[in-house]
Amino acid sequence: MKSNRKPVKTPEQIYRGMAVGTGVAIGVVHRHDSRASVHVREVRVSVAKVRSEQHRLLEAAARAAGRIEALQSQAKRLEGAAGEELGYLLDAYHQMLSGSRLIRGVQKRIATDNINAEAAVMKEIGLMADAFATMDDHYLAARIDDIREVGRRLVEALTGKKVRALASLPRNAVIVADELSPADTASLDPENVAGLVTLVGGVESHTAIVARSLGLPAVVAEDDILSYTRNGQTIIVDGVKGLIILQPSAKTLAIYRRCKLELLREQKSLLKLTAVPAVTKDGVAIKLMANIEFPGDIDSVLAAGAEGVGLFRSEFMFMNCASLPTEEEQYTVLSDVIRRMDGKPVTIRTLDVGADKLGAALGMKPGPNPALGLRAIRFSLRKKKIFFAQLSAILRASAHGPVRILLPMVSTVDEIREVRKIVARLTARLKKLGVKLADPLPPLGVMIEIPGAALAADALAAESDFFAIGTNDLTQYTLAIDRTDEQVAYLYNPLHPAVLRLIQFTAEAAAAARIPVSICGEIAGDHRLTPLLLGFGISELSMAATNLPRVKKRILSLNLSAISGRVRRITSESDPQRLKDLVAELSG
Ligand code: PEP
Ligand code: MG
Repeated sequence: MKSNRKPVKTPEQIYRGMAVGTGVAIGVVHRHDSRASVHVREVRVSVAKVRSEQHRLLEAAARAAGRIEALQSQAKRLEGAAGEELGYLLDAYHQMLSGSRLIRGVQKRIATDNINAEAAVMKEIGLMADAFATMDDHYLAARIDDIREVGRRLVEALTGKKVRALASLPRNAVIVADELSPADTASLDPENVAGLVTLVGGVESHTAIVARSLGLPAVVAEDDILSYTRNGQTIIVDGVKGLIILQPSAKTLAIYRRCKLELLREQKSLLKLTAVPAVTKDGVAIKLMANIEFPGDIDSVLAAGAEGVGLFRSEFMFMNCASLPTEEEQYTVLSDVIRRMDGKPVTIRTLDVGADKLGAALGMKPGPNPALGLRAIRFSLRKKKIFFAQLSAILRASAHGPVRILLPMVSTVDEIREVRKIVARLTARLKKLGVKLADPLPPLGVMIEIPGAALAADALAAESDFFAIGTNDLTQYTLAIDRTDEQVAYLYNPLHPAVLRLIQFTAEAAAAARIPVSICGEIAGDHRLTPLLLGFGISELSMAATNLPRVKKRILSLNLSAISGRVRRITSESDPQRLKDLVAELSG
């Protein structure tokens, strides 16, 4: 009998999140839930069988290491930072599977608790996670999520069951996952992936880095999106507004299809600007530089037509390695980057660690308030051996092309003076050894990212060769908002009148001292703020390479002399809402 009932239409559902990738994806849901993956049964092992159980563990570890090796070669297919980041992490996984503390611990546990290898793996990982805060092995302490991933892989190798699979994806898949480990990302075929939605990870998470460098739209969901999705559902990932739309209506689909086409058209037209100099309509030349985190980023820096690297975050060399990088290793990486930039300047920031960044890995004891503690230049000046090795490597690498040295989190002139003395000593030593150095030596600049440094910018300018304003931290410290704390994210506002005044004050101090000043925080890459920043007299901006063409387009359409009065009105406005409106008006 024929049914008279009409098919039930599922209403579209819209979820909010944080946009971490770029663009818009329309695809089908492919769920990936790592939490549902590891179920292990504990079985008693008699004393006589302990040795063979330990042997079984070692064999499984070797098999798991073999799979990691296969992923390492797959990761090499990914270009730029994605491949590089994954390479480092997969190396770390490989090390953990070869006679590491984890493997030794599991072997011991099989013998002491008389349990099977799978249960011993899970127990050992659970204990390691609990001991997270108090572990003396700083390398492992910093890598607890990676240890969990290695544990999952060990159990997979022991049981012979596939714990998770991302290798065979439907075409146009949007992966909806609780989290994506670097190994997961290495195993996926970018050809079939349209976008990513994850629950864990901030703007600087692995997912974000990979999404950006593969050019994938990605959103980190605020809700437990996995519990609302089913495989095969239609999904839209709006990586511009940070929206996830499930089962979109025909009208929404049509809007987003148009939006995708417009974005594609815009990208094509922006590509034509690569070789065009960034000059305003009234003839002011602006230097557009790029921020990089990995040497692999250079490809996109050159493709975007950047005039140099305005900020090279050097922390990556200290990530995911069992021991600190040697001076020689740092020299090799840095000289390679400098050579590839082919005469364009590279601004190398010295190690910026502390608080959220790599603290545990470098053996730093968390102070009562890490954000205000021994971090960045303070750490370097305390741990001289690490600092000397890094500075020597930079000085030696500077023989291969123009380099600038940038010091993070400077708060007083004494810090700059001390660094100058160290540079002079290292230079003398290197010259004595017959090492070729740049002549003149690289300029020494400071990041202005502490309100006190901005207010003392005139004194700092007298000791510095250039300034780079780090508005990410400047906003955090001016407004007392932890930039990694989601609970207060609604208050994080680089357009707060206090932050804007500090930027303006710094720009004026730099102009008076006739030293170059750039902005290298996230706002530098926001084309809506370009008129305001140039209105402050800033003529150098450094940003993620992907943002550069859009900022350039804005510069080409700008008449700076016509907006100076409006910029003055903005900086004298103290009401945040009125200020926001004025900035929006100026953005055009
Ligand atoms: C900043 O603080 O604005 C900055 C560019 O440095 P980071 O984001 O690396 O702290
Ligand atoms: Mg900073």
